[in-house]
Amino acid sequence: MKNKFSLLNIINFFSITLLIVFISYVFIDFKVIFKSLEDIQKAKIEEYLKAKSSIIAPLIKYGFNGLTKEELKKLDENIKYIKIKTSTFTYEKGLKKNLKIIKLPLYYSNEKLGEIEIGYNDSGLLKKFSNKYFQKVTIYLIFVLVLFFVVYIFLRNKLSNLNRLAQKIEKINYRKIKQIELLDNYYEIKNITKSINHLLNQINNFYLHQKTLIKKLFLFKKQLETAQKIAKMFTWEYNCENDEFLAQNFHMKKKLGFKNFDEFLNSLNNKERFFHEVKKACKENNEFEILLKVENKEFYFRVQGKTNLKQNKKNVIGVFIDITDEIKKQEQIKYLAYHDPLTGLINRMYLKEQLELLLNITKRNNKKLALVFIDLDNFKFINDTFGHDIGDSLLVEVSKKLQNSIRRSDLISRIGGDEFILVLNNIKNKSDVEEIMKKIKNGLQTPIYILNHKLETTFSAGISIFPDDADDTEDLLKFADIAMYESKKQGKNRYIFINEELKKEIKKYYLLVDELKNALKKDHELILYFQPKIDINSKKVSGVEALIRWQHPQRGFLTPNYFIDIAEKANLVSLIDDYVLEKGIKTLKKWQNDNYLNNLTLAINISANKFNENNFIEQLKYLINQYKINPEKLQIEITETLCMQNVYHTIKMLNEIKSMGIKIALDDFGTGYSSLNYLKKIPFDVLKIDQTFVKDLLEDKDDLTITKMIVEISKILNKINVAEGVENENILNLLSDLGVSIIQGYYFSKPVSEEELKKYIISFDYKNYI
Ligand code: C2E
Ligand code: MG
Ligand code: MG
Repeated sequence: MKNKFSLLNIINFFSITLLIVFISYVFIDFKVIFKSLEDIQKAKIEEYLKAKSSIIAPLIKYGFNGLTKEELKKLDENIKYIKIKTSTFTYEKGLKKNLKIIKLPLYYSNEKLGEIEIGYNDSGLLKKFSNKYFQKVTIYLIFVLVLFFVVYIFLRNKLSNLNRLAQKIEKINYRKIKQIELLDNYYEIKNITKSINHLLNQINNFYLHQKTLIKKLFLFKKQLETAQKIAKMFTWEYNCENDEFLAQNFHMKKKLGFKNFDEFLNSLNNKERFFHEVKKACKENNEFEILLKVENKEFYFRVQGKTNLKQNKKNVIGVFIDITDEIKKQEQIKYLAYHDPLTGLINRMYLKEQLELLLNITKRNNKKLALVFIDLDNFKFINDTFGHDIGDSLLVEVSKKLQNSIRRSDLISRIGGDEFILVLNNIKNKSDVEEIMKKIKNGLQTPIYILNHKLETTFSAGISIFPDDADDTEDLLKFADIAMYESKKQGKNRYIFINEELKKEIKKYYLLVDELKNALKKDHELILYFQPKIDINSKKVSGVEALIRWQHPQRGFLTPNYFIDIAEKANLVSLIDDYVLEKGIKTLKKWQNDNYLNNLTLAINISANKFNENNFIEQLKYLINQYKINPEKLQIEITETLCMQNVYHTIKMLNEIKSMGIKIALDDFGTGYSSLNYLKKIPFDVLKIDQTFVKDLLEDKDDLTITKMIVEISKILNKINVAEGVENENILNLLSDLGVSIIQGYYFSKPVSEEELKKYIISFDYKNYI
């Protein structure tokens, strides 16, 4: 950089000034000296003239002109001109030109005689002086100038080296710092260069350190950004002093289409609450967490904030976490928890909640409400015949039809397989409900076409009315359910309002359930009866089936028909099975030491509920070990229908049961739509032909054909077959001809007590039956 006041310019200026001053001084000095010399010479000449005047004045006075002239010839050599003019004497010698003139009056005593004028030459003196003066001054001047020049060159050189150094420093790039090479060995420059290099070294180290730090920082920033992106969050800050919001890594911009953070903040539906919390945190030092939603968009954020003191400045810092997915999942979970995934209708749980609310409103408005329990009549058949996919599609279509038949303010729910519940709001009386029921019936009457299948379905319904029949959810549901069962009982395809008679039956039902529960706790009310099974080939009683009976204190001797369905509905059947299993196994244990009974196999009926319990296998193992029975003598009867419900699970379970040595019988065979393909995979031992086919075997050709087929199947699959419900000799003979090996039925014996069984076996003679 060039500067007027650079040191070099100052030195240049200073040197020229000094030179001028010095020369001027010499010149002025010379002039002063010269003038002094002139004055001295003039004084000297005047002095000389005065002395000469005193000599020549008397000579002139007294007329000695000759002597005067003689005297005037002896004048100082510097006096080149002289003129004396008196009244008596005149004398002139020399030329005046280029001479300094001095005029003096010529006195003798006090009498002025005339005038004396002389001219003298001062050049000699001057020459002499100036020669000497200039000689000295020149030597001195040359010396000073040389010295000055040397110093000037030296300083100039050093200064320009300093300038070059400055230029080099100026060119230094902090990214590529190199050491400055030494420009000069001069002490100061050397020192400065050394110090600068030292400084450069430090700057370089500092720069490299900073660079790695910045790199790390950048990496951390990137990582933080990525982490925040993954965590779907960004940080924010609020400056309490200047009321300013700031967001870092605001990556929602693109996603949500906002220009900036402020625009985003303004789009939040609950922003006032957020701003309030922020301001509060500015005042009170606290933390907060709130949930915010972007207006008109399905985006949710959990916002956390906290007061932060930074160098005595207060601000609020926090995070915005995108919890849209979480909320959506929650909503989905809530939806799944409250809806039937197949039809999208609300489920039982949600229906109950909504019904609760509706009841309150209806009560307040003094209105009525009807609860309709609907069950499709032939759904099981459709499902079994056309498959589950078509069954599902049918349910969806039915749900649509039901929805179309009710009002918007009504509720519709699917609460199980083919069961729907409608809540009809704001009704005045039964006829209002009947109107809607007719509409539903008409709607469902038109066939539904699914994959070229024409499906026709009817329904049975039960209706209860609030507040006429009941004033709470549970009772309304219970009554509608019972009424629906009554519709089924009365031949399906109808609806029935709950009535006093039915209510009484329900009471009875609950009473019976209670009694059954009590009976299960006791040991003597529920007893096992045994029905013998006769082996046609060996002509002996080969085994028995344990069948439960209830010795009711008031109602008398009850068969399972009376209570097994109720037990199933009230979830008590599994307890009954536990009871029978333990009692049966105990009995088997007892028979092991009885010569008449120790060869019998004992078959125990197991319900679907029991079979599907997780610990069923464990329970069997436990009982066998506990009572140390021969498992080969134990037979488990499960129905064909249960077997086909979940074939692979059944196969797994049955394999485990069989591995214990226990035998397996498929009960009520022929009623359960078995697939032969599956049947061959199921590990069972005995196939029990259902009594519905056996009963009419002689009259019904179809039953005969079916029975023949079942016997064939059992032979192909190499299983033992048993015919149930054999009531007479003719049937026995026919079955025997068909190749049935074991017979169970009233013809041989009804189910009997243990005591009677023993007697029966002791006195048993096959010949008595043929
Ligand atoms: P199931 O297992 O098919 O039992 C055969 C049923 O047929 C028995 O009825 C039996 O008395 C009846 N029966 C046998 N031979 C004849 C006959 O020649 N004519 C007629 N009309 N009926 C005959 P029960 O004892 O009333 O049992 C009915 C059903 O109750 C049983 O059918 C079984 O499914 C169930 N059950 C009985 N005891 C138990 C039990 O301890 N546990 C479970 N889970 N269910 C049981
Ligand atoms: Mg059975
Ligand atoms: Mg049976």
